[in-house]
Amino acid sequence: MIALITGASRGIGRAAAVRLARDHQAKLFLVYRSRVEEAEAAKIACVEAGGEAEIYAADVSDPQAAKAAVEACVARFGRLDVLVNNAGITADGLVIQMSDEAWQDVIQTNLSGIFNTCRAAGSVMLRQKYGRVINLSSVSGKRPNRGQANYAASKGGIESFTRAFAVEMGRKGITVNAVAPGIIETEMSARVRQAAEKEIKQQIPLRRFGQPEEVAALISFLAGPDSGYITGQTIGIDGGIAL
Ligand code: NDP
Repeated sequence: MIALITGASRGIGRAAAVRLARDHQAKLFLVYRSRVEEAEAAKIACVEAGGEAEIYAADVSDPQAAKAAVEACVARFGRLDVLVNNAGITADGLVIQMSDEAWQDVIQTNLSGIFNTCRAAGSVMLRQKYGRVINLSSVSGKRPNRGQANYAASKGGIESFTRAFAVEMGRKGITVNAVAPGIIETEMSARVRQAAEKEIKQQIPLRRFGQPEEVAALISFLAGPDSGYITGQTIGIDGGIAL
């Protein structure tokens, strides 16, 4: 299995990379934006888990950079079986106070970033007549929090994009799905978790935050051979918070 994972230097992306290495002995193309030391550490963890890995710096919000990342992966490993679109950011604020920059950065990274990589990887997968695309949405795509209009819009867009791309790619056996995590213990959610840990846990039926490794297990299933008849779906992994 050859897999390209965006946002693979830390958090859920890193955990998914390690899990694909462990479960599928994957050859991994780890795309990150800026934190080279963390990307290097993720690479070592993948190799220790039984995979092979390369790191590659690219800003997925830049169409040329995203295309170049896909091309570099294919040049390095010869094909691309699995694309995990995991890179994402937040820039919270109320709509009436939100800057153009906060709106555009989040939409460009989270939503346009997925379009950019899917456009490039889609033609590779169609040629191969095989592919698995897994996009990271969020519970906020359906149940947004206050101050997350940009993020919620990007994630809602990802879910619609996932369905639309699944319709286009299905005829060649390529599946396209999304996963929608709740609150997972990574750097992204640290501020929210610290601000109101007790109150938030009360709203989660399972009464705890999720671990990146739990999301990674779902990604690994969707990337693997047993998920071949699932496409266009968004699968929640949120301790029940969306209920
Ligand atoms: P983190 O903030 O821990 O990690 C984000 C990763 O994305 C880093 O590897 C970062 O690279 C990379 N990244 C950010 N912007 C870009 C960009 N423009 N181009 C390339 N890479 C980029 O995030 P999480 O692991 O928590 O989140 C991963 C995904 O899961 C996101 O899409 C997020 O929206 C989603 N999610 C997370 C939840 C949570 O509670 N944590 C809940 C629901 C969804 P670098 O290290 O170089 O900066």
